[in-house]
Amino acid sequence: MKKRMILMVTGFLSCAVTLLAQPAKKVVFVIADGIPADVIESVTTPHMDAIAHAGAYFRAYVGGGKGTYSETPTISAVGYNSLLTGTWANKHNVWDNDIAAPNYHYPTIFRLLKDQYPQKKIAVFSSWLDNRTKLVGDGLAQTNGIHVDIAADGFELDTLQFPKAGPVHRMHRIDEQVTDRAVRSIREQAPDLSWIYLEYTDDMGHGYGDGPEFYGAVKMLDRQMGRVWEAIRYRQRRFQEDWMIFITTDHGRSETDGRGHGGQSPRQRSAWMITNDPGLNAYPELHTPGVVDIFPTIARYMNITIPSAVDRELDGVPMIGKVSLADMKVNYFQDKLDITWLPLDAKENSNVKVWISTTNNVKMGGADQYRQAAEVPLRQKHITISVKDRSPGFYKVVLEGAHNSLNRWVVPDNKK
Ligand SMILES: [Zn+2]
Repeated sequence: MKKRMILMVTGFLSCAVTLLAQPAKKVVFVIADGIPADVIESVTTPHMDAIAHAGAYFRAYVGGGKGTYSETPTISAVGYNSLLTGTWANKHNVWDNDIAAPNYHYPTIFRLLKDQYPQKKIAVFSSWLDNRTKLVGDGLAQTNGIHVDIAADGFELDTLQFPKAGPVHRMHRIDEQVTDRAVRSIREQAPDLSWIYLEYTDDMGHGYGDGPEFYGAVKMLDRQMGRVWEAIRYRQRRFQEDWMIFITTDHGRSETDGRGHGGQSPRQRSAWMITNDPGLNAYPELHTPGVVDIFPTIARYMNITIPSAVDRELDGVPMIGKVSLADMKVNYFQDKLDITWLPLDAKENSNVKVWISTTNNVKMGGADQYRQAAEVPLRQKHITISVKDRSPGFYKVVLEGAHNSLNRWVVPDNKK
């Protein structure tokens, strides 16, 4: 009995020590609408530079696999949902700003967090109401009734506080309100996972194209990011919390004049990321990350376990922690799958398991039947697998490395 008491006390103490040793991990991600990388790089942005100085700035992409089954329109809500779900549009099923029928079987990062840590607080700060009500799916049966704890959004619809006939820069004033609310909430409530969405840059891009009005909007965004960064630093100093911020965009703009977007040209697919995190892995250095990579990065940072069924659908690669492989390609020819990948660390001595499924039940909320087709050294970088005995047409191929998994689909006729 006495011995047991000691064990219990020791257990309690080590528990308490662990709690003390691990500061709370908080994440803010910001989507600033419609800014190609060349613009963010050419405008003077001292506040965002300071954040990047603490961590990193790098170019990124949106739009999925150009010309493949995962090609994704470079449209706003489509891009947000690629970030939220870590998947491209062929999975999350948001194809335009109508958000007609999102496939909630691909959970958002908010859902993943809440499923494992129901006590953690999530927040959405946004001009646009749909971001919370349709994309995150606040209170919907399809999202298991996820509850967004802190919301300051829908200001676009508020014609009393923000009259439409009022100043030209109505959307800037709304973004200021969104920023004010986010800053106050970060300082006072410190939500565990926050999404700040800012829209004015896209308005100026559409209205004026490349030029001083658009660049001016980016400078205003920079000052807003300075305020958010100050709020984060306040929490870090005062409460010893760990904070990660990612600032990114949902799409670039047209080559011709910067007004439009939606297509697959290089500048419309052009994005970027800024983070304060000093501990990025080699992946963003050696590859060009996609907006889908933020989901697994946040999951790792917040110690969220990604269920295997979700992991096998994720189109992103974590940008922190150990990563085994990236840049997976699958080419189908004559009943064979030719699969290639690139190891992140040439010295990693591990194996890659190749899993193949011919079902797509996840789309309907079910489970796919995977069979292990091979196990090969990571360093080999390729394998050709005969699929003659399998039902032809549709294949999901998953490469399971020691530290991360990748997946690609083979779709008949290369159509969605
Ligand atoms: Zn947009």
